[in-house]
Amino acid sequence: MTALSTIVAACSRSAETTDADGPSLPGGIDGRAAFSAIEALTGPLSAGRIVGGDGSAATRAYLRARLEAVGLAVEGLEFIERVALNDGEAFLRARTPGGATTVFEYRSDFREAPINGFDGGRASGPLKRLTGSGFEPGTILLAPKEARPSEIAAGLAAAGAAGLLFELDKSSPALRPLWPGHEPGALVKVKHGMPILGLSGEAFAALAAMVATAGADPGADAPFIELASPVRFADVIGANLLAVWNGDGGSFEPAYLVMAHYDHVGADPDGSYFPGALDNASGVGVALALAEAAASYRPRVDLAFLFTDAEEGGLGGSTAFVSAPPFPLGGASVINLDMLGSCAETRYSVYSSGGQAGVSLSLRVERALSSGGIPATSEHPVDVSDHAPFASAGVAAVTVCEYDTEHYHRKDDLPEYLDTDELDAVGDALYRLITTAAVAGP
Ligand SMILES: [Zn+2]
Repeated sequence: MTALSTIVAACSRSAETTDADGPSLPGGIDGRAAFSAIEALTGPLSAGRIVGGDGSAATRAYLRARLEAVGLAVEGLEFIERVALNDGEAFLRARTPGGATTVFEYRSDFREAPINGFDGGRASGPLKRLTGSGFEPGTILLAPKEARPSEIAAGLAAAGAAGLLFELDKSSPALRPLWPGHEPGALVKVKHGMPILGLSGEAFAALAAMVATAGADPGADAPFIELASPVRFADVIGANLLAVWNGDGGSFEPAYLVMAHYDHVGADPDGSYFPGALDNASGVGVALALAEAAASYRPRVDLAFLFTDAEEGGLGGSTAFVSAPPFPLGGASVINLDMLGSCAETRYSVYSSGGQAGVSLSLRVERALSSGGIPATSEHPVDVSDHAPFASAGVAAVTVCEYDTEHYHRKDDLPEYLDTDELDAVGDALYRLITTAAVAGP
């Protein structure tokens, strides 16, 4: 039996047997409650949970209903986001000088790439390999994986390139990216006129061979490309959901703010969607189960539970929250949950931005997880998750992450690859940490 089949077998067993401990104890969460949220968030009603979409609204309605059902007050906090939708045409065809046409397939040979805010649409023109020697305006350029498209795209567009095809490096056409690469907190500036597609290694090699064959014959024309990228930037309303537990009965000053982003990368033009189970229905499920545990066991400590939107496009929801927090954040320790409970034996990371408060919190969280049977390592500085805007504002903030990338941003990021018992154990360890705040030292 291979290692992989061992893990899969162990995982499907844990998904079938619900919670081996029976009813939850006052020390923790109910892993089944977390898992049921994961199933809801990965279903067709949520449809990939892209910011501004109907699936996002359905997801918020589900979370609000669960939180209000246990008596928690819930508030929606809106903000503007600019998102790269995939709702246009997607095609790529190459006609060689002999007249043969090769048709490439979306999601297996090529994908969209919202790099630097370049939007999609159609383009056509002769194909030329990107070299240092320049090109005619109207050319479609073919770039190898060493080319770093985010660094060269603006210059190529200014020089009149009609389109850019680049070989994906450590990525795949099956993966849907959403972040254009801009600074978090700003709306990306949209650029027009040079659709960009990422290619599989095989598609890149096929196109490079066509260019080479045509180049070997001085009388032959270059291969002719027709392409369309489905990327379309749209301004939409994002919404964070905040639930509060006022455990000490006085003014609300949370010792901990537990958060998780509920958005994901949406759907393709054909309506098939990215379920986002590990990323990040898993973190939402655990954060929700923590909120439900607090409402049921009533710890004498103030706790906030924040479900952020628009993380995938550049930390939009957490940035918006930090810019106008509805309560003082100074005394709070922020624990962001992003990708938990994978069946893979990936070690947990506790990311912080590197300041003293963040590192000290990350060590506290690492100890809490490890003593709950979840080996974890603190890592800093890591700024690519929702804790970062809090850290920038001087708040102690970390992200707990089991960074298993096997199904990352793909349509097979499904609940069946998550382990209910592991979600339960992570939630229990975090529940003990956040409800013993009064005695926890740095
Ligand atoms: Zn993601």
